[in-house]
Amino acid sequence: MPDMRATSLDGRAVADAIAERVSARVAALPRPPKLVFVRVGEDPASASYVRSKQRLARRVGVEAETLVLPEETDQATLMASVVAVVEDEGVDGVLVQLPLPAHLDEAPVLEAIDPDKDVDGFHAVNVGRLWSGLPGLVPCTPLGLEAICDHYGITLQGQRVVIVGRSNLVGKPAAALFLRRHATVTLAHSRTRDLGDVVREADVVVAAVGRAGIVQGAMVKPGAAVLDVGMSRVDGKIVGDVAPDVWDVAGAVTPMPGGTGLVTVAMVVQNTVSAAERRIAAAR
Ligand code: NAP
Repeated sequence: MPDMRATSLDGRAVADAIAERVSARVAALPRPPKLVFVRVGEDPASASYVRSKQRLARRVGVEAETLVLPEETDQATLMASVVAVVEDEGVDGVLVQLPLPAHLDEAPVLEAIDPDKDVDGFHAVNVGRLWSGLPGLVPCTPLGLEAICDHYGITLQGQRVVIVGRSNLVGKPAAALFLRRHATVTLAHSRTRDLGDVVREADVVVAAVGRAGIVQGAMVKPGAAVLDVGMSRVDGKIVGDVAPDVWDVAGAVTPMPGGTGLVTVAMVVQNTVSAAERRIAAAR
């Protein structure tokens, strides 16, 4: 029997390639770019994400600092802290790590970030720029999905892309990006009827729900590329939205862990360097 298992779309290889390109861009700048993370509380997952972003930033020559505020921080204090970081002329990129503790409102915090320093790309101005085809900062996970496709030669133009999940963080910006690349895009969500039939149409599937194994082998067209974004913890292990039997049907799959998450981290650093390049050019 030939081995029919899908090719693994290794996120580490993509992230390393991005880091190498970004390092060269940093070396060409007159000063190192500076990125500041704002984190509230002691959620271990958030702390770990910030650490990995900070580690990669420093590896490529980006100065990275983290402002940690206590769990009980109120909205006004958080807003004032974010504004102070944003207004610091020496800072090129600001990232408020989400989710915030439940008593805090995310929307005004994200809107307080200067769109040109908004390395997460969540500010409404950047959302508008993305959908209008204007240059701006684009959310990191969708940028990472595009980078994985480009790295592994997965065609987007004219292909059917089905994205399961329609959040502002992942699904919607991914739809805008794949549309920009001339794919035919469908966004599925919790009210989608016959999810399996919709997903089976796809040449490229993006699973961004956060429910272990929601995308199963029987829902996938043979040979399709499947990009697993969702993350859940099952019996203490991180698992994705893609069920193990998808590997027997698909042509290529991102592993979880070791796939999309690593590329998301690289894109935070790439966005910081892009922001710094623009600010340095504008100051000349
Ligand atoms: P979210 O805001 O909770 O959105 C989840 C989406 O899934 C919603 O659009 C929801 O539909 C949809 N959904 C829920 N149940 C569904 C069902 N039964 N069938 C079809 N769609 C369903 O989450 P998010 O922030 O986008 O994150 C999604 C997952 O990705 C999470 O597990 C998160 O941890 C992970 N994540 C990973 C990375 C990475 O780099 N790998 C980055 C960011 C997030 P409705 O809109 O109808 O409610």
